[in-house]
Amino acid sequence: MLLLRQISWRVKASLSRINPDRLWLFHVAVLAFVLALFVAMHAINQQIIASSSAAHSAEDIAFLRKLQWADLLIAGLVLLVQAAMIFLPTHLGLRRQMQALRNQATSLLDAKQELEHLSKQLSHLSNHDALTGLPNRRHLVSLMRDQVAQRKLTGQCLLFIGLDGFKSINDSAGHELGDHVLVAVSRALSACVDEGQIVARIDGDEFAMLTDEPPADIVQRVKSSLSGGISVLGRDMKVTASIGYLVLDNDQSDPLAILADAAMAMQVAKTDGGNRARHFTPALRENAGQLQRLQLDLPAAIRNGELEPWFQPQVRLTDGALHGVEVLARWRHPTRGLLTPDRFLPVAERAGMMIEMDHAIWSSAMTYAKGWQRSQIWHPLISLNAAPDTIADPHLIERFLLGLRRSGLAADQVIIEVLETTLIAGADDMTAINIDTLAECGIALELDDFGTGYASLCRLTQLPLSGIKLDRSLVAPLPDHGADSVVRAILALAAELGLHVIAEGIEEKGQAQHLSDRGCIIGQGYGFARPMPPNEFEIWLRRHANRPVTMGGAPLPLVKQA
Ligand code: C2E
Ligand code: CA
Ligand code: CA
Repeated sequence: MLLLRQISWRVKASLSRINPDRLWLFHVAVLAFVLALFVAMHAINQQIIASSSAAHSAEDIAFLRKLQWADLLIAGLVLLVQAAMIFLPTHLGLRRQMQALRNQATSLLDAKQELEHLSKQLSHLSNHDALTGLPNRRHLVSLMRDQVAQRKLTGQCLLFIGLDGFKSINDSAGHELGDHVLVAVSRALSACVDEGQIVARIDGDEFAMLTDEPPADIVQRVKSSLSGGISVLGRDMKVTASIGYLVLDNDQSDPLAILADAAMAMQVAKTDGGNRARHFTPALRENAGQLQRLQLDLPAAIRNGELEPWFQPQVRLTDGALHGVEVLARWRHPTRGLLTPDRFLPVAERAGMMIEMDHAIWSSAMTYAKGWQRSQIWHPLISLNAAPDTIADPHLIERFLLGLRRSGLAADQVIIEVLETTLIAGADDMTAINIDTLAECGIALELDDFGTGYASLCRLTQLPLSGIKLDRSLVAPLPDHGADSVVRAILALAAELGLHVIAEGIEEKGQAQHLSDRGCIIGQGYGFARPMPPNEFEIWLRRHANRPVTMGGAPLPLVKQA
């Protein structure tokens, strides 16, 4: 047995040295050898039988025949052994290899399918926005390129849609709510167009729409789809958008240039106050260039003190006494002259420099105010405007308190005016924390432009406000009956909540008288005085700090309170 095993190992060892590709040669050689042996032995036997059939006895012949059969048997045995030792293992090995190959082929197929699936997912991801699922900028551009190639772009209308004030929603109410707003807006926009037309998310709060509808129709539909209110986390929110649009002609074949033109028109719509649409014209490019140059100039302007605080008096309507001043920013630009906030606030907003700008104006205004206090011209009370970004700034309190301490003014000499948009906020966000902290530090807060937005009355009761500023749009129509009813209702509400009211934009004596008759205590407007630069205001102060401010030559008559 041992010997047999050794032989078998040796045979296997010898076989293993044979190149597998040449194994068939070995089998053929063995077979050929066995066959040759058999044929040779058979031939010898026949020869012997033939040559000796006469000479040998029948017994010899029978013996030879047996020998022949023995040959056959040995040959058969050799073949059997070969089959058992070589063919069978080879066959089994081959079967194993084939099975392994089959398994490999199956797993390769699986891997290929997985790869195809992944590559599809990857291509979808690279062409779509992960949050809203809309095509992204890159996909839109490639779709537009296809349409240019098929000459299908001409006559189509491209809308570039930017949400108004989205940054403040994000900053004040948190990114999660911001994301929900974006998803809701993307749904609302998608519902504005038929299937086959494109709505894409370009970036952040910017969307684009490519449609063959007339611009007036689609612009109107987009506006009303948003302003009608969108449902975000179960509550209705009003969102407005600025839209830039253009109808494409044969000359326009570069999707990136087309998008840039529409984006420019959108930016102009935003600068004009938002919630409006602007048609792109080449003249807008010049305008956008100017804005861009202003944006570049702004950081140095803030550093160099080109931004100035101007002062507009606020007057007690009952006796014309000076109550306080509102600080309003102006930019004394070295080449463009004096710029009003409508020219540079959108620039500062776009450049993300509102916070810098506000603090620069505030600290300069506080320094002037302290100067007038030191010269004993006036015991100042100044109202500072704060942009939503400024109120949402996590460093607001330390920056503000530092400025206040440096100026030497007391906390009760400064009021901060916040816009209604600042207050569309959750209870736990930075804005709410800052507002509460300011109030705790003894800083009075006033709600600016009251009556223009949609600050909920419920919100009014929750905030630590000391007053509200009645917007000019409500004061201007006075004494019109409708406006009068609204003003009376607001005054009654404010009295109920213990808030004082400052009426803005009083230009005529009749308006001041009317407001005073209704119980409004403080007024501000061109009728009393326009905003003035510090040196001019100082002269005005010297004349009016201790003397009633008159309107149209005569002081306002004292009135009984409602
Ligand atoms: P606002 O806070 O509502 O300021 C009142 C605006 O009405 C001022 O415009 C003022 O000049 C103008 N105004 C005052 N009385 C009358 C009037 O009788 N008739 C008319 N037609 N207008 C009157 P201004 O200075 O152009 O400021 C515009 C807006 O820019 C301000 O509106 C305020 O929201 C913003 N702003 C101004 N300065 C700053 C600032 O330093 N920081 C921030 N964040 N915003 C500022
Ligand atoms: Ca204001
Ligand atoms: Ca105002």
